[in-house]
Amino acid sequence: MASKLLPSVLLLVAMLAVTVVMAAEAPIVQAAKDSFAAIAAHQKVKAALDFLKNDDANTLTEQKTIVVIPAPPFKEQARATDYLKRIAALGFKDARIDKEGNVVAVRPGTGNGPKLVVSAHLDTVFPEDTDLAIKEKDGKLYAPGIGDDTRGLVELLSMIRAFNATGIKTVGDIYFVGTVGEEGLGDLRGVKALFRDHKDLDGFISIDGPETGRIVYLAVGSHRYRATFKGPGGHSFLKFGQPSAIHAMGRAIARISDLQTPRQPKTTFTVGTVRGGISVNSIADEAVMEVDMRSVENAPLLKLEEGILKAVKDAVAEENARWGSDKLSVDIKLVGDRPAGVQPSDAPIMQALLLATHAVGVQPILEEAASTDSNLPISLGIPAVTVGRGGRTESQHSPGEWFDPTNAYLGPQRNFLAVLALVGVDGVAKPMLPKRPPRQ
Ligand SMILES: [Zn+2]
Repeated sequence: MASKLLPSVLLLVAMLAVTVVMAAEAPIVQAAKDSFAAIAAHQKVKAALDFLKNDDANTLTEQKTIVVIPAPPFKEQARATDYLKRIAALGFKDARIDKEGNVVAVRPGTGNGPKLVVSAHLDTVFPEDTDLAIKEKDGKLYAPGIGDDTRGLVELLSMIRAFNATGIKTVGDIYFVGTVGEEGLGDLRGVKALFRDHKDLDGFISIDGPETGRIVYLAVGSHRYRATFKGPGGHSFLKFGQPSAIHAMGRAIARISDLQTPRQPKTTFTVGTVRGGISVNSIADEAVMEVDMRSVENAPLLKLEEGILKAVKDAVAEENARWGSDKLSVDIKLVGDRPAGVQPSDAPIMQALLLATHAVGVQPILEEAASTDSNLPISLGIPAVTVGRGGRTESQHSPGEWFDPTNAYLGPQRNFLAVLALVGVDGVAKPMLPKRPPRQ
């Protein structure tokens, strides 16, 4: 009994320990509390929060309008063009679509403040021919992409309207950005371009989480490879003695399966897909597999990558040696590269988010490390978080995705307060976000 019970008790303790570590909120420093309190008490800020609540219906209408514009990976143009028009109509004459396809609009501050990006992503995971029509049932909206990340896009627009309605003067500059390429093989191309072209950005917020309280501040890095094994092929009986692409791939998978990775920092791998071969009685001339590897830190990710690449090459050598051949080869391609990174849980950007979340009466949920647009800035050492949208989204990345708009205004309210705290309000509070020396 004891011997059976013990491991499960230990497992439970281990799980609890992990949960506690992730959910812990760092203490808020007094200076941050004071600065935030001054902002929250400001008349114009109160007016802006009221505005955001009253604007909720407009925001929802806009969400329904934008979600039906298709935005598959690498084909975000139609949605970007529409989004640019909407931003320009709100007074941003210099808003533009950059070379990569991101929509960028800058609201300048009073000068010499930090530059903060507030963003949502334009792309969805859904192919071009997906039926995007909205169905409403029991107060919920059903449509692919209705939450992820159409809701983030419209919250940016509502925040801009709140600035326009109240004329709040910030110290720092705010970059409102609709990014491309957040999903899948888009491989963060939008944020990569943004930070390549702007070396002076000091902070980044992505509005892209299924519920308001969620905050992601740790970035899981991932590398993905496609390995294509090629051999001479031939009849299974007549050409017996030739190396096989499938056998080589099998050897590679066996080697990869035995690799050891650290639990902390969590480092993982999987051969996600395999295909190949012509028929049961053919020696396979081609086999293809895709491998995904992830870690919260870059060093173990690179070590794992080295191990996987070696496993593939050794497997090819072994298959050739088995048959005394040199005809089997492999082509290995990097098809995904998202950098990892960590930042302190008490960084100013986290303090601002925690204060703002509590201020609107929502319980913060500090999420496990994830792979989002924030990966890129976090990997560069730039403070960045991916935060929840208003309302609640379920079944993201599936055709059954739905959005519950109950109290959805709390999302824009929370994010608006956090942005003000980070860039500072003229004559009210200094920016909490430090200015960084420009990057090389
Ligand atoms: Zn998303």
